[in-house]
Amino acid sequence: MKLAGRISQVKPSLTLAIAAKAKAMKADGIDVCSFSAGEPDFDTPAHIKAAAAKALDEGKTKYGPAAGEPKLREAIANKLKSNNNLDYKAENVIVTNGGKHSLFNLMLALIEPGDEVVIPAPYWLSYPEMVTLAGGKAVIVPTDASTGYKITPERLRQAITPKTKLFVLNSPSNPTGMVYTPEEIKAIAQVIVDADILVVSDEIYEKILYDGATHISIGSLGSEIFQRTIISNGFAKGYSMTGWRIGYLAGPADLIKATITIQSHSTSNVCTFAQYGAIAALENSQDCVEEMRQAFAKRRQVMLARLNAIPGLSCAKPDGAFYMFPDISKTGLKSMDFCNALLEKHQVAVIPGIAFAADNNIRLSYATDMATIDKGLDRLEKFVKSRL
Ligand code: GLU
Repeated sequence: MKLAGRISQVKPSLTLAIAAKAKAMKADGIDVCSFSAGEPDFDTPAHIKAAAAKALDEGKTKYGPAAGEPKLREAIANKLKSNNNLDYKAENVIVTNGGKHSLFNLMLALIEPGDEVVIPAPYWLSYPEMVTLAGGKAVIVPTDASTGYKITPERLRQAITPKTKLFVLNSPSNPTGMVYTPEEIKAIAQVIVDADILVVSDEIYEKILYDGATHISIGSLGSEIFQRTIISNGFAKGYSMTGWRIGYLAGPADLIKATITIQSHSTSNVCTFAQYGAIAALENSQDCVEEMRQAFAKRRQVMLARLNAIPGLSCAKPDGAFYMFPDISKTGLKSMDFCNALLEKHQVAVIPGIAFAADNNIRLSYATDMATIDKGLDRLEKFVKSRL
């Protein structure tokens, strides 16, 4: 079969592939400790499930507007105002099939051949692939532990050319867990405004913060940056709703309108009754989000202490999200060989850093229970010791 050329330019998602492999091994009765996909182990909070079930019972089972249920678009606009100080109306919001889909819609609406999109590495693996699928060029700017895996304003300025259309900001970050300080966000915003480019701020981990770290939305820093900002977010991580596939994009009305046109020819509306669950998530107490965050915080302490106690590994302290990103270079293995050997010999699933353009690191998600963390870290320790 002669496939379209674009498919030879992208790879399947390694996070999804390894997570699926770990799940399949478990289903085969193998005792796997999985730190692969960034997927909270908690059930979706009961009041959210009840709202979706009620909507289903009430017959909310038909097509809805491609842009999303009006009530949900309104609730998201209200949330962006009250939580993030962003002045959006419902018309500035599209409801999408997850955060990933919001970004994909954005790239299709915005990027064309010749356009450059600046992405700091380590990056979440789907960003460059989406740019490529849209026909654009991903311009990767490497960062390392010396700047907390964060791009500096100088590096960003250097990466911008007359072809640059968009910068991708992700704080808290997947895969490093790093959080940009308000001062760092301000400095980045200044570069964006000076260069007159756009920024998409992926804020999917905004509620998962530790040790007093704060999240500010880059678009809230003034009208000049607000006009150049697009927000991507979703319900998967904060509300443990990964399988529901509900995300959103917010930004200038003409751009959002363009994404609605695209969505009207691709997926149409997000599952109608599921959207009622999302409304309940936003309109009720946020205690469930905080309870899960507190559980992640405990796991983070254990994971970080244990990883840094393994001779040969070193791990920077993450301020957000639920990932550890240790350096494995002292083992003499590159990330793919490390991960394959760890899974085959010790039944521990982690993601190789090569997926995020960081071949000396691995990513471990600690959105999993403490027993798995204890057992998995014992096995990891044994494996690393055998390499030294
Ligand atoms: N975003 C999550 C992760 O990085 C889920 C998998 C994916 O969509 O890549 O593990």
